[in-house]
Amino acid sequence: MTTATATKTGAGISGINSDAQKFISKSKKLLINGKWVDASSGKTFGVYDPSTGKEIVQVAEGDKADIDLAVKAARKAFDSGPWPSMTPSERGKLIWRLGDLLEKHLEEFAALESIDNGKPLAIARVADVPLAVDLFRYMAGWATKIEGTTIPITVPYAPGARFHAYTRREPVGVVGQIIPWNFPLLMAAWKLGPALATGCTIVLKPAEQTPLSALRLGELIMEAGFPEGVVNIVPGYGETAGAALAAHDDVDKAAFTGSTEVGRKIVHAAAGNLKKVTLELGGKSPNVVFADADLSAAIPGAASAIFFNHGQCCCAGSRLYIEKKVFDQVVEGVSAEAKKIKVGPGHEEGTQMGPLVSEEQLNRVVSYLEAGFEAGARAMTGGCRIGEKGYFVEPTVLIDTTHDMKVVKEEIFGPVVTAMPFDDLDDLAAQANDTVYGLGAGVWTRDISKAHLMAEKIRAGTIWVNCYNIFDAAMPFGGFKQSGWGREMGKQALDLYTETKAVCVAL
Ligand code: NAP
Ligand code: MG
Repeated sequence: MTTATATKTGAGISGINSDAQKFISKSKKLLINGKWVDASSGKTFGVYDPSTGKEIVQVAEGDKADIDLAVKAARKAFDSGPWPSMTPSERGKLIWRLGDLLEKHLEEFAALESIDNGKPLAIARVADVPLAVDLFRYMAGWATKIEGTTIPITVPYAPGARFHAYTRREPVGVVGQIIPWNFPLLMAAWKLGPALATGCTIVLKPAEQTPLSALRLGELIMEAGFPEGVVNIVPGYGETAGAALAAHDDVDKAAFTGSTEVGRKIVHAAAGNLKKVTLELGGKSPNVVFADADLSAAIPGAASAIFFNHGQCCCAGSRLYIEKKVFDQVVEGVSAEAKKIKVGPGHEEGTQMGPLVSEEQLNRVVSYLEAGFEAGARAMTGGCRIGEKGYFVEPTVLIDTTHDMKVVKEEIFGPVVTAMPFDDLDDLAAQANDTVYGLGAGVWTRDISKAHLMAEKIRAGTIWVNCYNIFDAAMPFGGFKQSGWGREMGKQALDLYTETKAVCVAL
């Protein structure tokens, strides 16, 4: 493992890992059919450090023509060549090796994530990269366990005849994967892991804001020994490369993580060849603190539920419901936690919260804050942009908010929580479910019945009791309602990368 070194690059990035700097200084191309190539158009686009707004590097800009080439390579790799004839164990070993390589380069990846996305280096080190390593290892184990079933069938119109029926689970085929910028490496791992374990081939489009870790991962994929064309990586814009991938007739499944608005576009684009679609979309997740909770855990827990990754989490606990008799205590406590957070460039040691990912995201969050204040919300703490350089926003706790306000209804995707009191359990469940989303929820209580009752009543894909933002490769994650279709991670993810084939043999 390399250690972080304090050096300066030409781009003015101080204190980042030297291997990451070396990677950044190389030209950034597209990975198509096992080769690093320029975009067909010759175009490139800039990638920026969100703590300064300065350009880090230029990256080849893939568009429809490159997506066509990548899909062709993935198709060929799926239909012929070494990949489809590999044993499940060989496939599993390659995925495991990829996890090992990633772990070996942990510091480098943590630095790339931090400089590209803005997140604190310390978080990328303990969360983003290790979770991605673990995901690959978990999925490597599944490669040998993709089983069908034998089925005792009757066939009432064929009396006396005997049959042997069974199912096979086969890879769905060529998969187009489109991922966002909030956890660039981890989202790539969540998508690639199950697809590789089941034997699919892939075209991955990272987010335009954060393509660096996916490109470095592409190098490790080749180093691990995956056959050419199994994983193709095409950075580019959503409206061009992403849209072409989602609509492509030779893609069998589109797997998308991002906004609900673009999720809808993916569904429309997929209608042409009726490709399978899975979607992991937005959220406006309720986090409920009962008066009987251990407040010494619930208060920092509620703060971290929203402020982790600067609120740029699809499952951020952005609607905080607090039982009336402890409302003031909890709001003050969460506000005090918010004030303690050390905000600064992600790649500076000691930073606990970095900048938002882009100017677009900064403007979006600030405009939500303005809309909230206009509608009558008050900030217990925060509420403003920090400084003029970089995309920093104060960790913010809003009170006096109601369910008709935009700040309560819509996903802000920034460090902004709305705190609201409740006093009746039935009313609470209705409020918690008063959203078009259903991704995550938190419940803080010492009463075991209340905890399970709320777990049943809240319509969301994950319920955290006396904890929040706990993720594991073995635990399925995904949304009810407009938070998505399907699940990531766990064995549920594998089902969505396979087709079931029934085979019936007359004996
Ligand atoms: P987004 O536009 O949904 O981006 C997600 C991915 O989809 C990116 O790779 C994007 O490419 C791509 N994309 C965009 N338009 C596309 C299209 N027409 N066809 C195919 N792919 C397309 O999200 P965003 O603009 O980065 O962020 C906007 C909001 O989305 C955020 O404020 C937040 O509310 C939400 N969001 C949710 C999640 C989540 O995990 N659920 C993650 C990120 C954002 P480009 O980046 O190149 O445009
Ligand atoms: Mg976008």
